[in-house]
Amino acid sequence: MSILVLNAGSSTLKFGLFEPGAREPQVAGNVDWDGPAQSAELIVRSLGEPERRQPCEATDHRSAASLVIKALSEPGRGSSPIRAVGHRIVHGGQAFVESVLVTPDVAKAIASLSDLAPLHNPQAVAVLETATASLPGLPHVAVFDTSFFAGLPRSSAVFPVPFEWYKERGIRRFGFHGISHSYCAGRAAEVLGRTPEGLRLVICHLGNGCSAAAVRDGRAVDTTMGYTPLDGLMMGTRAGAVDPGILLHLQQREGFTAQELDHALNHQSGLLGVSGVSSDFRKVEAASLEGNDRARLALEIYAARIRSAIGALSATLGGLDALVFTAGVGENSARLRTSVCEGLRFLGIELDPQLNAEARPDADIAQPGASIRVLILHTREELMIARETGRLALKQNA
Ligand code: ADP
Repeated sequence: MSILVLNAGSSTLKFGLFEPGAREPQVAGNVDWDGPAQSAELIVRSLGEPERRQPCEATDHRSAASLVIKALSEPGRGSSPIRAVGHRIVHGGQAFVESVLVTPDVAKAIASLSDLAPLHNPQAVAVLETATASLPGLPHVAVFDTSFFAGLPRSSAVFPVPFEWYKERGIRRFGFHGISHSYCAGRAAEVLGRTPEGLRLVICHLGNGCSAAAVRDGRAVDTTMGYTPLDGLMMGTRAGAVDPGILLHLQQREGFTAQELDHALNHQSGLLGVSGVSSDFRKVEAASLEGNDRARLALEIYAARIRSAIGALSATLGGLDALVFTAGVGENSARLRTSVCEGLRFLGIELDPQLNAEARPDADIAQPGASIRVLILHTREELMIARETGRLALKQNA
């Protein structure tokens, strides 16, 4: 009996099959249909076996979800039958403050949130619809990236704009990457050998999208992402926070349309926009090392934004016990971690250079005597979704 987790990205579908209680999936993988390979590819990693890659027919999220479910339902596959399905949903809006069992009404409500997150929710809805149609007898659970931030204090949740925007239009800070932040908050306590109570954390999730969150007693108290996942830190192609006056100027004086601004801020900004090289951190890092000045500037801005977010979030917490780096960049770039932390010695953050260069997640890379611990944690969004699915659908912890 296992739990299938489906996690829709922009042109990928990640999946994992978990036995209840297991930390590692029996089978995990992804379908990519817009990647570097010439055709769509199904990539499967089974526990204890080498990775298998095969061309497949997927062209979108629906066909990818059908393909994954068919592949995992084949008899003789060696793993136990699927008993429940967990879905990652980026935006839960005001309606969903925690994970829920999917009913037809819940599915409708999630679909109606697509306007709030047009780049993220429609893909998840396509996967949810396909999976509920293909596996109709099973419980399906929706797990939201916004839930972890549903209880943000008002001073963080409410923007300083006309109050009616909040009351009547629901304009508030939602926060995102909550599944990752929530996993890392729990895992940080485990690695530090403490309980979440009394623990003050700043967690930096640095992947294609980037956000930082302040966590006290295991609960989020502030975060850099806002009403949409466009706010806050500099990202791969997203700008992060910019002076809104720039947008007004470009619209009113330069004739930019809302669609043009949307495209520029979501797809042509961030690391890609400044460096002109790529949205991929590794490529920008490589170009910078070869002397590309715009790539170097992009990395300087990227690190500076993270540094100032850590400062601000630590101040919100009134002090800091541990700083956490996670996701593709946070887990892998020792150079970025050095660059961020070098400016934060005054707070008591001191990296051990050798540990920073050599340690693999999960690890503590702060100097032994430093007052603030610095952790690199491998984020486990799929595991978190499997746990939530097990809790709600099977009434047990995965
Ligand atoms: P997503 O947000 O799509 O889940 P990831 O968490 O996988 O993305 O992060 C993708 C980012 O991580 C990319 O910018 C990639 O360049 C960066 N990354 C992955 N591996 C490394 C590495 N070894 N060094 C530096 N950056 C890395």
